[in-house]
Amino acid sequence: LWQSCMDQLAQELPEQQFNTWIKPLSAQVLEDMSKVTIFVANRFKLDWVRAQYSSRIASMLEKMYGQPVQVELAITPRDTPVRTASSPKLVEAIAAEESPEFGEDRGHSGPKNRLNAMLTFENLVEGTANRMARAAAMHVATMPGHLYNPLFIYGGVGLGKTHLMHAVGNRLLADKPGSKVLYIHAEQFVSDVVKAYQRKTFDEFKDRYHSLDLLLIDDVQFFANKDRTQEEFFNAFEALLAKKSHIVMTSDTYPKGLADIHERLVSRFDSGLTVAIEPPELEMRVAILINKARVEGSEMPEEVAFFVAKNVRSNVRELEGALRKILAYSRFNQKEISIALAREALRDLLSIQNRQISVENIQKTVADYYKIKVADMYSKKRPASIARPRQIAMYLAKELTQKSLPEIGELFGGRDHTTVLHAVRKIGGERQQMTELNQQLHVLEQTLKG
Ligand code: ADP
Ligand code: MG
Repeated sequence: LWQSCMDQLAQELPEQQFNTWIKPLSAQVLEDMSKVTIFVANRFKLDWVRAQYSSRIASMLEKMYGQPVQVELAITPRDTPVRTASSPKLVEAIAAEESPEFGEDRGHSGPKNRLNAMLTFENLVEGTANRMARAAAMHVATMPGHLYNPLFIYGGVGLGKTHLMHAVGNRLLADKPGSKVLYIHAEQFVSDVVKAYQRKTFDEFKDRYHSLDLLLIDDVQFFANKDRTQEEFFNAFEALLAKKSHIVMTSDTYPKGLADIHERLVSRFDSGLTVAIEPPELEMRVAILINKARVEGSEMPEEVAFFVAKNVRSNVRELEGALRKILAYSRFNQKEISIALAREALRDLLSIQNRQISVENIQKTVADYYKIKVADMYSKKRPASIARPRQIAMYLAKELTQKSLPEIGELFGGRDHTTVLHAVRKIGGERQQMTELNQQLHVLEQTLKG
């Protein structure tokens, strides 16, 4: 079970993310499957995995097992091996992370700036949703310390905040290779503060942070309730601004919306430029899909990209997940990428969205199908040519939406819930016997499910 959960995550998540966060996890499953304990290497990872992945893992396990599974996170006990099958590399990576000093070679454009070289401006698709943030970030990358300091970028998950931030760092290093750049996730900053505190190495800590030319700090909402960290960040912030170093921050909300962060810090956050990244609009989603497919060495026909973009709307990360599924499906089955193939590859994803079919949608589709007016769905008219489609629509509303009988009655011109119940039973019963009705319902269901 745990293994299939891992397999599914491997499909859903970008490879790098999967390798960094999910692959090193090990799990212990209670016999009756009611609880799963997931082991992580350290506190930082624990918080991160909890915030980013635990609810996804829980719902995945629940779906596989057919009943709720409690997911608990724990730190791997020190004296047991992290994971029997783990590679020496992994152990090394953890050791490196745990080691306090990474200041000795700062200034090199090497790995210690923690930048991901793949996340650049070049492969960030531009659209209305991110135009302003992108322009501001580009300005910072070319002229750090000039305007928009600090630059505060906010928006929902998977909209490209982290990507944009790395792009700034990568661009600056490409233009001015000697620059001291550091990308750090707020959680990691917190853990650095804790370490400096425990080991009484605040001077080193300050040297490290206060000497940067560009500090990129991701997801500052994680500073909530961490007083000591907020204080240290405030100090670093003041020192960096005083020497015209640039600070770029991201968060899931605008500064004033941040909870449990000191007012003086919030007002600092807001003192440069604050820009939002919005969810991408349809055309941008299409462009992102076509682009990413090309990067993967595949051509996605525009009509397929439209089909996917229409159905996957929430954020870019989901879009990438959908694309990966389609590419894998096409390769595995050695079939060309088409709408039919995309529909097949995204079956699970699309069926989740089916639960969001609206009653209005059903009324319209059924009215179209039986060639009556939509208004007849709410009217009091009773000829069978109208009453029957109306009953069919009520039946489908009960079957395909989460609405209760009274709610459905309300949406059908204020009918009583017993009327709806009668329709649901009648059509449901007839469906068993009449293949013709069953056929029609099947067509309607397919149409509604897209
Ligand atoms: P956030 O930090 O806002 O949660 P990320 O920066 O991690 O989001 O973006 C999620 C994924 O989507 C990343 O793989 C990123 O490269 C990709 N992505 C986001 N926006 C774009 C875009 N405009 N063009 C191309 N890829 C994007
Ligand atoms: Mg991010």
